[in-house]
Amino acid sequence: MNTSIGFNKPYMTGNETEYIRQSVESKKISGDGIFTKRCHQFLERNYNFKKCLLTTSCTDALEMAALLIDLKEGDEVIMPSYTFVSTSNAFVLRGAKIVFVDSENNTPNIDADKVEELITEKTKAIVVVHYAGMACDMDKIMAIANKHNLFVIEDAAQAIDSFYKGKPLGSIGHLATFSFHETKNIISGEGGMLVINDDRFIKRAEIIREKGTNRSAFFRGEIDKYGWVDIGSSFLPSDIIAAFLYAQLENLEDIQNRRKYIWNKYYEGLKELDSKNLVRIPQIPSYATNNAHMFYLVCKDIEERSALISKLKENDINAVFHYLSLHKSPFYQDKHDGRELPNCDNYADCLVRLPFYYELKEEEIKRVIKTITDFYQK
Ligand SMILES: *Cc1c(COP(=O)(O)O)cnc(C)c1O
Repeated sequence: MNTSIGFNKPYMTGNETEYIRQSVESKKISGDGIFTKRCHQFLERNYNFKKCLLTTSCTDALEMAALLIDLKEGDEVIMPSYTFVSTSNAFVLRGAKIVFVDSENNTPNIDADKVEELITEKTKAIVVVHYAGMACDMDKIMAIANKHNLFVIEDAAQAIDSFYKGKPLGSIGHLATFSFHETKNIISGEGGMLVINDDRFIKRAEIIREKGTNRSAFFRGEIDKYGWVDIGSSFLPSDIIAAFLYAQLENLEDIQNRRKYIWNKYYEGLKELDSKNLVRIPQIPSYATNNAHMFYLVCKDIEERSALISKLKENDINAVFHYLSLHKSPFYQDKHDGRELPNCDNYADCLVRLPFYYELKEEEIKRVIKTITDFYQK
């Protein structure tokens, strides 16, 4: 009998509970305690991020971004349709109209060549999503944004420790958001971060994150009392969460090395099927690095994908599909302008993600590869 291979398994590096204990004993377990500061420092130094603010999720960081760019009812935000609901929902909450763009043919990322034609007087921002941690074509996106005076927000939820032409993802747009949800490379259960690369947003971001108050400036001793100065909410995580996260960050290199090892095993084991045109494996653009967030396949059609997922399931292997096209979602289909987005629909129908986690064993990787190879050579 085979043991079952799950899709995801959160990895603990060893120091998580010790750091949580230290955080508890510090007697300051609310937000912005010692471990939050350590996480901010680590991430700002390692990735050249101007300012980091931990949040309780990437969803929250996206909501902060939507507040910071001061969206008004009816403003338009351009983004890919092949993404997680939060990318879009955060801006819809502010009354924005979402203008969805198709994916590239070769990757699920936004097709930068289709963005400019969608810009109107009302366009305020472009949101890019670095799918599977692989960079979008940021030079093209930034050039369009600069020409039309638009903000760029990177949804870098999957993109920790990944680069575009040597620049860390999350350091390029005006704002960027990360996720530390347990399905990502670096985790804290739930958790996220807003990165601010444009100075103009820093002061207000601190206020919005602290319920619309200037409490952060007060704690730094810059003002002698704090009060209500803007809109905001409670976006900051408890220091206990940051303690967990810090243990992960200290082991970032080890985690990334292991994940890249697994990714390359899949790549080597499955590239022959790709070269025979039986199934597509990920293509990494020359300007992008691979942070081994996920390994996916793109099947011929939805029937083939369902059959492959079933075949894997019969062998106790849990592979899963991913996003459904947001422009066709029950919530947004009536609001979408009707343009067809065929590459997005294709990824929604045909993409399948393989089991991927630090503790995936050598023989388990082999079993996944063998099951897929048998499926295509039946
Ligand atoms: C995971 C993910 C999110 C949401 O992250 P949370 O931390 O769970 O809110 C948003 N966007 C993308 C692209 C993601 O992969």
